[in-house]
Formats: sequence, C-alpha cells, structure tokens
Amino acid sequence: MSEEDEFDVVVIGGGPGGSATAGLLAMKGHRVLVLEREKFPRYHIGESLITGLMPTLEDLGLLERLDAMGFTKKYGGTLLWGKNQGTWGFRFHESALYEHAYQVRRADFDALLLGRARELGVTVVEEATVKSPVFEGDRVVGVTYTERGSKQVRTARSKQLVDASGQTHLLGNEFDLIEYHDDLRNIATWAYWQGCNLYGGTKAGDIISENLPTGWFWFIPLHDGTVSVGHVTPIAEYKASGKSLEEIYTERLAQTEEIKTLTAGARRVSGFRNIKDWSYTCTKFHGPGWTLVGDAAAFIDPLLSTGVTLALRGSRALADAIDEVLANPSSETEVLDWYEHSYRSFLDSVLEFVRFFYDRTKHKEDYWDKAQAQIDPHRLRPREMDFARMLSGLTGIDDIFSKRKAA
Ligand SMILES: Cc1cc2nc3c(=O)[nH]c(=O)nc-3n(C[C@H](O)[C@H](O)[C@H](O)COP(=O)(O)OP(=O)(O)OC[C@H]3O[C@@H](n4cnc5c(N)ncnc54)[C@H](O)[C@@H]3O)c2cc1C
Repeated sequence: MSEEDEFDVVVIGGGPGGSATAGLLAMKGHRVLVLEREKFPRYHIGESLITGLMPTLEDLGLLERLDAMGFTKKYGGTLLWGKNQGTWGFRFHESALYEHAYQVRRADFDALLLGRARELGVTVVEEATVKSPVFEGDRVVGVTYTERGSKQVRTARSKQLVDASGQTHLLGNEFDLIEYHDDLRNIATWAYWQGCNLYGGTKAGDIISENLPTGWFWFIPLHDGTVSVGHVTPIAEYKASGKSLEEIYTERLAQTEEIKTLTAGARRVSGFRNIKDWSYTCTKFHGPGWTLVGDAAAFIDPLLSTGVTLALRGSRALADAIDEVLANPSSETEVLDWYEHSYRSFLDSVLEFVRFFYDRTKHKEDYWDKAQAQIDPHRLRPREMDFARMLSGLTGIDDIFSKRKAA
C-alpha cells in the first residue's frame, strides 16, 4: 500500500463485525481495507453462537467450511433458570429455521472470517492500530494508523469509515457516544476445564446456563474436549465482597446444582480470565462518512449469547446500506438512518428480553409469554416457539431493512 491510499470503505477491526461487513462489501464490488490491531488467530471470549448469524455466514459462503472445522454443534440450551425446579430449555429447530449453531474457539472462528474477507478481495492489514479519524470539515474521510514495529503514522482515506473496533469503540470515544446501562453492570470470570461430565445426544453441545441468587454460570462444551465455564456477577457485589474474583468463582461453583455435577472430577486446565461486562449502547450509529457496527455500536450482556449474532446481522444490514450510499451518495443520511433504526430496534428488543430474563423470580411460562409479547403479539405461534425464536436471534433487523429495499 502507498503511504496514503484511498478506499471506498475502511473498516477498523477485523473481528466478526468488521470482517463480515468488509467481505460482504467486497462481494458487491467495493474496494475495502480492514485495519486490525492484532495478528490472527488471536484469543477472544464469546464462544457460544446462536443461529441468528447463519444467514450472514451463508451469504459469505462459509457454512460448509465451518462444518468441516469440526466445531461442536449446538442444538439448543439447557437452563436452570427462574423459579422452576430442575432443568428446562429450548431447541433451535423449534424456531423452524436452522437446526443448530456452533460452540467455537473464537481464535479459529474469527480467523476464518478474516481470511474469507481477504479471499473476497479485501485488503487486510494486521498489526495495524488505528489512532484517530481524519476529518474534512465535519466529515470523516479516513483514519491515521501505525503498523507494529514502525513509528510512521499512515493515512488511509475512505468514502465510508466503519468502526468495528469492538469494546475499544474508537469512534464512540471520539464522539462521546457511549451510554452505559447501569442495571447490567457485571463482571465475568472464566476458565477452561477438561474431563467434565457431558450430556449425550443432541444435548451434548448445549450451552448450560445456571442462575444463582445474584450471578449465573455458563458451561460451553468445545470440540477439543475442553469446556469454558464462566461466572457473571454484578460489579457492585464483587466490590462489596472483599474477595477476589477467583475466590467468588470457586465458592459459587460449589453452590451450583448442575454445573457442579458436570465439573465433578474435572480439572481446570487454564488460569482465570476476567473482563468488565458492562452493557452500553451508543447514542448514534452514524454520522457524515462514518458508521458503527457490532460491539463498537452496542454491547449487551452475554446472558443470551447474542454478541456475535448482533455483529453479524448488523454487518449484513450495514453492507447493504453502504452499498446503497456508495451508489447514491446523496441518500447517505436517509439510508443510514434506516440502518440505525433497524439495528437499534433489534438491539433494543434483545436488551428488553435480557432485562426480563435477569429477573429469576419468574417461571418458564413467564419467559415464554414475554418472548411472545415482544415478537409475536398476535400469538400466531406457540409461545415456546417464540421463546426459541427469541433465543435464536432470528427476529428483527433484516426484516426491517428488507422492507426498505422492497419499498
Ligand atoms: C464475558 C463475555 C462473554 C461473551 N459470550 C458470548 C457468547 O457466548 N456468544 C456471543 O455471541 N457473544 C459473546 N460475547 C460478546 C462477543 O464477544 C462480542 O459481542 C463480539 O466479539 C463482537 O464482535 P465485534 O466484531 O463487534 O468485536 P470484536 O470481536 O471485539 O472485534 C474487534 C476487533 O477490533 C480490533 N481493534 C480494536 N481496536 C482497534 C484499533 N484501534 N485499530 C485496529 N483494530 C482494532 C480488535 O483487535 C478486535 O480484533 C461475550 C462477551 C463477554 C464480555
């Protein structure tokens, strides 16, 4: 690349949101650059996928390859949640669209997506850290960045800049857009285990989510025999406890019913990792010359494993929107308003359901009813099916954006 290169679209970050947006735009014939801070494969949390991301993977031509990588097939989830005694759950096939998603090692999954973007013609520069946007008046026309091992500050110019920098939310910081959701102010601690007792049959790949009086655990079986076991708890409670996150994890694990049994006799094969898990939404998703997607736009608590799906479904809508804007620049505000409206409605719907689901004083029928009230108000489907559909992440965004295309 020359010192100052011009692209139709520059994407900050090569995670799922950035790679998918870039790949889909390249498929539409645009000149796209992805600048990614790390060298892939790189570690990332967020291993349990839901079927809402399958349409994007299908568009990118990745379903067969994903299958061939041998990831655990996830047919649904097992829950110890709310007032019900014992386990209950959902199966993706009840949502009638896709039978399964996957439990993945994100390093491999994300590398697959970034590699696919490259294959589709995207220029990908790894170990390139974006420093700041470049302005002409109030319009963003590119970014400055540096490559690892070099002090030279480079510039890449764009007609559209996509911020897919995840929880770095580069433009969110630049424009002061982040609004935290104080009721979802959590912290997550997790480790990897081997030798766990696993379910059999089509439940073998289930995520198991078990609530405790204040926090909850995830149990995610990966294809190499290790299991990701994580604990999420309110930050305030952790601070008040005077204990370390590792102490809380160990203490609380012993208080679980199902996950304690599944990890009995197993051994922890990694150290503990932890991350602030504090949900937020940006107040705007676009402005002159720029857009946000994935965690750069909003992060919703991992309770329903929606993060990668939100990023990939957002990418699909954004690639369509940017394609339209590049063809007809005078439509920029109108088209990107549609993108923001559709993406925000989907995020808000997930957020509303997460908030309801966090209330463990309910019975499973209450959660089913809530799902139905949100996504099937005329009660056209059984409420269990609406619950499965809600947890599959298959409602919203594309329907809204495709309405615009049809209009
Ligand atoms: C505890 C926890 C558990 C989770 N569990 C799940 C789960 O089970 N299922 C699920 O779907 N989601 C889960 N998530 C959410 C999921 O991890 C994210 O939503 C998802 O990774 C978002 O994808 P993204 O592409 O927007 O961002 P990311 O995947 O974070 O990618 C952003 C990329 O941008 C790069 N970058 C950042 N700054 C710069 C810069 N300045 N210049 C260049 N590159 C930059 C980063 O290196 C990174 O590769 C979880 C999140 C947490 C915190």
